[in-house]
Amino acid sequence: MKTALALDIDSTLTPPRQPITKVMVEALTRLNVPFYVAAGSHFQLLQNQFFKPMYEHGFRGRFDAFVSNGAVHYHCDYSKEMSIKLVSEFNIGNYLGENDYRRLMNVLAGTLQMEEFRLPDDFTIVDNRIVDRVSMINLCPIGRLEKEGPDAMLNREKFVKFDLSSDYRKKIMEYLNLSLSPLIKEKHLHITLGGQTSFDIGIWGEDKTKPVRKLLEKGFEKVIFIGDALFKGGNDAAVIELIDTWPSESPCPVEAVQTGSWLETIEIFKKKEVLG
Ligand SMILES: [Mg+2]
Repeated sequence: MKTALALDIDSTLTPPRQPITKVMVEALTRLNVPFYVAAGSHFQLLQNQFFKPMYEHGFRGRFDAFVSNGAVHYHCDYSKEMSIKLVSEFNIGNYLGENDYRRLMNVLAGTLQMEEFRLPDDFTIVDNRIVDRVSMINLCPIGRLEKEGPDAMLNREKFVKFDLSSDYRKKIMEYLNLSLSPLIKEKHLHITLGGQTSFDIGIWGEDKTKPVRKLLEKGFEKVIFIGDALFKGGNDAAVIELIDTWPSESPCPVEAVQTGSWLETIEIFKKKEVLG
């Protein structure tokens, strides 16, 4: 059976927010089936985490990369040099149109201002709490700096603990799903938890299912998706939705496999017999 892999990047191929290791690059080099990658982050953030170290650690093949949660498509050809070409880019602002885009941005800004979603005073809140990443909107209650120093890391860690103990993001998520329900129905808006501190607001289909669907269109009979966030609300969960809503007349050619770490992903490669 003609099989291909679709692989999440952060915490699936790499340690959380860390560069891909040489060991993983070697495993990817040894794959006996083609693979596409899909990342929640945008291209710039992935340069040092994935694209450059892949080449530096000796990967010399070709693959397609879907970044910004799947909505921006690149073709990467590392056979001679590191060549990365943009194939297509989805623009959420154009897709929604001016009125709905403004409506969305107003709801997001208003939510952060609400008394019940105010963060405790000891949090440092920096700029860029709502960022238009072209293909989707990222909402980060503590804000985000271009370059994160030790202070920002501590603030992040504090937020992660706070979020776990108070269900802060879960509550915001429920509120957003309610207040944005017209856009969710009419424009197929889709809200997921992005990483450990934020939310991604995108459009159904312009997500992690995109590389999977592209591989099926190319004629692969089976696509195995591996990701660390296939749970409800996670940024790989769209793949589960694709499987669950697959028309019952035909068997679903997609399999989703949850991983706990990049090391576990290598074990999954072995189990699925895709390592040459
Ligand atoms: Mg991930």
